[in-house]
Amino acid sequence: MSERFDIVIVGAGTAGLSAAIYATRSGKKALVLEEMAYGGQIINTPEVANYPGIAKISGFDFAQGLYDQATGLGAEVRFEFVSGAEKAEKGFVITTDVDTYEAGALILATGAKNRPLGMEHEEEWIGSGVSYCATCDGAFFKGKDVAVAGGGNTALEDAIFLTEYCNKVYLIHRRDELRGEKHLQDTLRKKENAEFVLNVSIDALLGEDRLSGVAVTDKATGAKRDIIVDGLFVAIGQMPANKAFSNLVTLDDKGYIVAGEDCKTTSEGVFAAGDCRTKEVRQLTTAAADGAVAALAACSYLQEKE
Ligand code: NAP
Repeated sequence: MSERFDIVIVGAGTAGLSAAIYATRSGKKALVLEEMAYGGQIINTPEVANYPGIAKISGFDFAQGLYDQATGLGAEVRFEFVSGAEKAEKGFVITTDVDTYEAGALILATGAKNRPLGMEHEEEWIGSGVSYCATCDGAFFKGKDVAVAGGGNTALEDAIFLTEYCNKVYLIHRRDELRGEKHLQDTLRKKENAEFVLNVSIDALLGEDRLSGVAVTDKATGAKRDIIVDGLFVAIGQMPANKAFSNLVTLDDKGYIVAGEDCKTTSEGVFAAGDCRTKEVRQLTTAAADGAVAALAACSYLQEKE
């Protein structure tokens, strides 16, 4: 027989562990299922300096604190890959590579991964010049030269933000047109320390044991150029991983779970928290907030069912 929990939470990132904290504090038996390590995206950030009330903390320590708090309150965290979930007579059945579980309510907190460029050294140099979060890591590059890869709103906003800290900001994009909004393009164009490097392919990340530059080729002329920078912010979109739940909840055209600020999905009893759902601002604070909202909504749902 499958083990039964009040609430099963998929994902042990900030949203999932925050949901576990709220669920257990509400007296619910909660299980968090996580494929990899707990903490989610934040463990890749050397320093978190934008979480209200905590002036400075490493991403790892932040994640550890969340994990300790959730498990200390009685939440169970198991490291299993969730392959799917479906509606059952008394809630939901969740299938992993190890077991199956029953739950009265389900919280999906599967996060979203930053899309990588797929270059050699990219993963290795995260924290050594490569970053996916300008708001998290921009301050480390004060007075330095940096590049942002991408042509969407995130890349433009990141580049604008970085012009405030950095000596020079290159915006490197694969086309000669930018996808991001015109007002953001105009704002960046007015920045004296910003340079647009458009219609180029990124050939290589340069450096020995950390990033020291980006090699690009102009697609129109074939001219090659090494852009010497201390930091590269990769902002080429995100990749949600919600396909396993498409039988249960509606996904938008990019694969995010359709849910509003109440974290309610199109399926009663299933809640979506954090970066995996449709939302404007994907930050640590909004992930934590979603965890609380989803858990409390799940508790109300269970109470109504009783
Ligand atoms: P996005 O809009 O999907 O843009 C991704 C950018 O990366 C595009 O310019 C794309 O190039 C480029 N790209 C994708 N794959 C690439 C690859 N393999 N190599 C090189 N370049 C690649 O992503 P986003 O900027 O993160 O924005 C995501 C969503 O959030 C969007 O809907 C955006 O409007 C929204 N958002 C809104 C705001 C705001 O309203 N203030 C702020 C941030 C984000 P192409 O253009 O050539 O496809």
